[in-house]
Amino acid sequence: MTHPLSPLSTSDRVLLRLMVRFVPIDEREDWLRCWRAELWHRRYPRARVSKSAVDLYPGLVSDAMWLRAESWRQAFTGTASLCIASLVVALLFAMLPLLVFFGGVHGLGVFVAANTNLFLCEAALVALVSFATSSRVVEHASPAAPFSRLRTQMFLAAKLVLVLLITFLLSEDLARTFYGVHPFTAEILQPQFFVVMALLGQRWNFSDQDSRCKHCLRVLALPARVGRPSWNFLDSNGTEFVCKDGHGLLSVPEIETSWRPSSRWIAA
Ligand SMILES: [Zn+2]
Repeated sequence: MTHPLSPLSTSDRVLLRLMVRFVPIDEREDWLRCWRAELWHRRYPRARVSKSAVDLYPGLVSDAMWLRAESWRQAFTGTASLCIASLVVALLFAMLPLLVFFGGVHGLGVFVAANTNLFLCEAALVALVSFATSSRVVEHASPAAPFSRLRTQMFLAAKLVLVLLITFLLSEDLARTFYGVHPFTAEILQPQFFVVMALLGQRWNFSDQDSRCKHCLRVLALPARVGRPSWNFLDSNGTEFVCKDGHGLLSVPEIETSWRPSSRWIAA
C-alpha cells in the first residue's frame, strides 16, 4: 500500500522509521534523505506499477547498523573505560573454572576468604617489584592539572589491582589441574605461576599507561617517525604519537640518552 502523498510503500516507511533509531543522531537527517531518495527512485515515476524495493532492505538495514557500530567504535576504541571493562570481563572468565571446581558461588566464597592473606602477600611482593623495576617515566613539558594526574594514577591503580586478581585466579586455575594428582606440587606451583604471570601483566600495565594520552587516557595514535639514527647527538630521533582528540603529543626517543632519558609529553 502506498501513501497518497508519497511513492514510498507502508513497509518502506515503517522500515525507515524503525532503522533510523539505530543511526547516530547527528547523521539521521542525511541518512533518511539518502534512503528516501533511493526508495523513491526505485518506485518513481510508475508508482502505480510500483517496482519492488525489497531488495534494497538488506542494504538499508546493514547501513544503519554499520553507522551505529562505527559510532561506538570511534567513541570507545582505546578508551580507559573499555580497558577497565575488558579487564573485568577477563576477571569473570578467570573465575569460571574455580566456580566449576568449587561447585558454586558459596564454595568460591569460602576459597577466597581462606586465600585472601596469601593473595595480599604475593600481590604486595609483585607490586613492589613492578614499581621498582619500572624505569619508564614520562616527562611533562608543562605541569599536568591535578585532576588529570589523580585520574591517571587511579586508572593505573585500577589496572594494577585487576591484573593482580586475574593472574591470581589464573594461577589457581592452572594449579588446580595438578591438584587431583599431586596436591603438594600444586601448592608449590601456584605462587610461581602467579608471580610470573603477574609480573608480565604489570609490565603490560606500565607500557599501556605510557602509550595513553595524559589528559583523556585514550591510546595514542598516528605514530610518526622523526629524525634519523645519526641525529641522536644534536637533534631528535624517535617516534611521535598524538591524541586523536587533540590533547597533546608524546615524543618517544629511539635511544635513551643522558640528555633525553625518557619520553616527553607536550600538551596542546
Ligand atoms: Zn586525549
